Amino acid sequence: MCEVREASAEQLHLAVDAASAAFPVWSAFTPKDRSACLLKIADAIEANGDELAMLESLNCGKPLSAARNDEIPAIADVYRFFAGAIRNMPGSLAGEYLSGHTSMIRRDPLGVVASIAPWNYPQMMAAWKLGPAIAMGNTVVLKPSEMTPLSTLRLGELLANILPPGVVNIVCGRGDTVGAPLIRDPRIRMASLTGDVSTGSKIMEAAARGIKRTHMELGGKAPVIVLDDADIASVVEGVRTFGYYNAGQDCTAACRIYAGEKIYERLVADLSSAVSTIKAATQQEPGVEMGPLISARQRDRVASFVDRARELSHIEITTGGSTLGSKGFFYKPTVVAGSLQQDEIVRSEVFGPVVSVTRVKDAEQALAFANDSEYGLASSVWTQDVGKAMAMAARLQYGCTWVNTHFMLVSEMPHGGMKQSGYGKDMSVYALEDYSCARHVMIKHN
Ligand code: NAD
Repeated sequence: MCEVREASAEQLHLAVDAASAAFPVWSAFTPKDRSACLLKIADAIEANGDELAMLESLNCGKPLSAARNDEIPAIADVYRFFAGAIRNMPGSLAGEYLSGHTSMIRRDPLGVVASIAPWNYPQMMAAWKLGPAIAMGNTVVLKPSEMTPLSTLRLGELLANILPPGVVNIVCGRGDTVGAPLIRDPRIRMASLTGDVSTGSKIMEAAARGIKRTHMELGGKAPVIVLDDADIASVVEGVRTFGYYNAGQDCTAACRIYAGEKIYERLVADLSSAVSTIKAATQQEPGVEMGPLISARQRDRVASFVDRARELSHIEITTGGSTLGSKGFFYKPTVVAGSLQQDEIVRSEVFGPVVSVTRVKDAEQALAFANDSEYGLASSVWTQDVGKAMAMAARLQYGCTWVNTHFMLVSEMPHGGMKQSGYGKDMSVYALEDYSCARHVMIKHN
């Protein structure tokens, strides 16, 4: 589409200079005034929704309808949520916990935050990172993915009319040439990443040298536990939608099904036929449900996972399993049936339109298999027995468990992982806590 210049070392330095200079100004804004700015950001995103959605859709390859109708309203809502939340922060009561002394809790911003975003939802990730950081009074240097900078750059232009100079700074470029030196800058107080586990590990190492706070939203491999009493039609509809949304390039994608003995055959048959009807096409084709993958590299990576799975005699590719057309990086929506717990396709994050189905003998085995993973971001349980669902939700080691649905997010509730999926929360008041420090002030009476 176009080329975007990478920030030079000098420009990177200037961005951190600007953020550092803006911090005392911005952090002195009252919550009410910061809130007013956040509300204006939400309004500007809605007012420019058509353009922002078009840029996102062109840059990521995602259906325009998804970018316009799903993402833009959700992004505006994130900023509106933080606009309200910052004026309602909860905390411990001030009081005399030592006689003759009054203690009070403050919650203060950290300084300049470096935020590093991935390519799957550039504007949404920008909102999840900027919303809590600037609501709390921090200033930010944000680096979008080198593959998807366009909507973030346009957002920067909109923010320039709303925020004081230097509160949000956007730098473009690759991870090792721009992201890494940004994290190393001694003036950066916190590094927030949404990205791959290996990138998280590198950023944590760099941050460790400067004892910087980190916030890590890393990969996922969401288990979908389908008990024998589940409503199969709604499971099929749910997985058809939430396993393949954004071409499966989603860290919460419903991609790892565990199905009880009694319903396994029917689930595989119904799911495969439903998935075979997903319309993969270019962004603006009428009825398009799924776009291409982000790059040739990502498409080839997805294809290689499926090809390695296909070589196993117990595996059956019941639909999809190949690239689609010669133009664009399409991969057919794919179901890999008969997979076993130790198979790579069950254990590794594919980040593409591929769902595996594994047979389990009972709910206990499904739970054990679901938890037997390095990832811990999202999970779902499908059953008509609420008691069973609650018991399972209590034992699943995932940042989120949905019951009889998958993928649904709301700004009021936290999103974030356990294990190698990382730590720290996006959205909700917990994100405001992550982007701030609780402080104690004690006053001795006379
Ligand atoms: P990635 O890790 O390759 O890149 C993410 C960002 O990190 C990019 O901006 C990249 O330039 C930057 N980066 C890379 N190396 C760096 C370094 N050494 N120092 C600083 N920055 C560096 O990830 P991706 O391929 O863009 O995104 C896909 C990954 O993101 C998947 O693993 C997916 O699961 C994960 N993801 C997680 C969530 C979540 O909420 N947990 C959400 C979306 C995506």
